[in-house]
Amino acid sequence: MPIGSYNTIIEPFRIHSTQRIPFPNAEERRIAMEKAGWNLFGLRGEDVIIDLLTDSGTGAMSARQWAGMLDGDESYAGSRSFFRLADVIRDITGLPEVIPTHQGRAAERILFSAVGKSGQVIPNNTHFDTTRANVEYTGAEALDFVIPEGRQPQLIHPFKGNMDIERLEAKVRELGRDRVPLIMVTVTNNSGGGQPVSMANIKAVRAVCDRYDIPLFLDACRFAENSWFIKLREPGYEDKSPLEIAREMFSYADGCTMSAKKDGMVNIGGFLAMKDPALAMECRNLLILTEGFPTYGGLAGYDMEAMATGLMEALDPNYLQYRIRSTAYLADKAVAAGVPIVQPPGGHAVYLDAAQLLPHIPARQLPAQALAVALYLEGGVRGVEIGSLMFGRDLPDGGFQPAAMELVRLAIPRRTYTQSHVDFVGEVITRVAAKAHDLRGFEVVEQAPWLRHFTAKLAPL
Ligand SMILES: *Cc1c(COP(=O)(O)O)cnc(C)c1O
Repeated sequence: MPIGSYNTIIEPFRIHSTQRIPFPNAEERRIAMEKAGWNLFGLRGEDVIIDLLTDSGTGAMSARQWAGMLDGDESYAGSRSFFRLADVIRDITGLPEVIPTHQGRAAERILFSAVGKSGQVIPNNTHFDTTRANVEYTGAEALDFVIPEGRQPQLIHPFKGNMDIERLEAKVRELGRDRVPLIMVTVTNNSGGGQPVSMANIKAVRAVCDRYDIPLFLDACRFAENSWFIKLREPGYEDKSPLEIAREMFSYADGCTMSAKKDGMVNIGGFLAMKDPALAMECRNLLILTEGFPTYGGLAGYDMEAMATGLMEALDPNYLQYRIRSTAYLADKAVAAGVPIVQPPGGHAVYLDAAQLLPHIPARQLPAQALAVALYLEGGVRGVEIGSLMFGRDLPDGGFQPAAMELVRLAIPRRTYTQSHVDFVGEVITRVAAKAHDLRGFEVVEQAPWLRHFTAKLAPL
């Protein structure tokens, strides 16, 4: 272990600059929630005490990243900061073509605009919500092939993000390679509980890709956390560094999309990288339309500096040990409070199982939303619903297709909260769990045609 044999794993940083936390009282929280249409995305940051809405772009940057920002090269074309970023990305991924984007979904939109169209299918272990939306927007179909274990919240399995290779291959065989422009693997599997994918599984997906001559793309947002889980859980990798493991993972891929707001350790940024120069050319042409010139792609030079430094900091073993342990620590608190969670805890978040905690609220009445709202009203803790508000579908016949799981995700911003913040969250969970049977569901009163959970307005039942 990097920090020696102590049981207490400390934050591997000193706090160098701080930000005040607002403390709205219970009445102020209730008013804020009502104004927000009972949607946690509608709250202002100032309404929130501990913000676990997402780990995306919410982390703290290091002094070295801030120092690098002062030295960013803002040349419109040919920025030195771009070449530094591209070198770091090539060093980690081995992918020669690097296209910076302002965040992950911009990389997705460009990639799927280039390869997706009606009649085509993009398989993934589990598509993240923006990935699915960008696939579907092109008219293509987004299919999820996570292993059955990955859909059973209580079941312990070391790599619950793994792809179900047999089901994947059966589908690819049925459709033929012309209808499958690429296969994706999301590491770690965010929508499936932040669960890792094993190296063996990535290799097996690669083998399917080889058999049908289909490119493999990683949705690489949490590549460093996935590397750490492989080191901890997959035989043969215990003595390898996270960087070596990441390099091997990427060696099986033809490309990747990346939100650097996750394991890039920055507040904004992303990229698309690939082997195929012809596809890269097509993507750059699309990039210029909406993101910017190919050597900045929607970012400032200083953003690219921060990302180049952050990508390597995310692979520091001391950081990863602390990161994964802090997530497990919050999971321990939830379990101690008697709240079922997705087991084992994932890398970036703890997922509370609202279907089990609130069996009296049917899926259509959004039990996970009920739990997320209760955590905010109780203690100003903001999580996010990952259940039927996010993934449920109204069917043409008036029926309702619920999500596979009803979860509340408590995502942990990187290098931001201390152990006592997490202890406080544990207390809030305990208090909410004690009155679980009193919680009631919600109905949707207003919604957008896609990604409805971001802007929907709800009403308590
Ligand atoms: C965050 C995320 C994205 C989208 O990235 P943004 O930077 O939010 O646009 C895509 N895939 C996964 C797995 C993610 O976690």
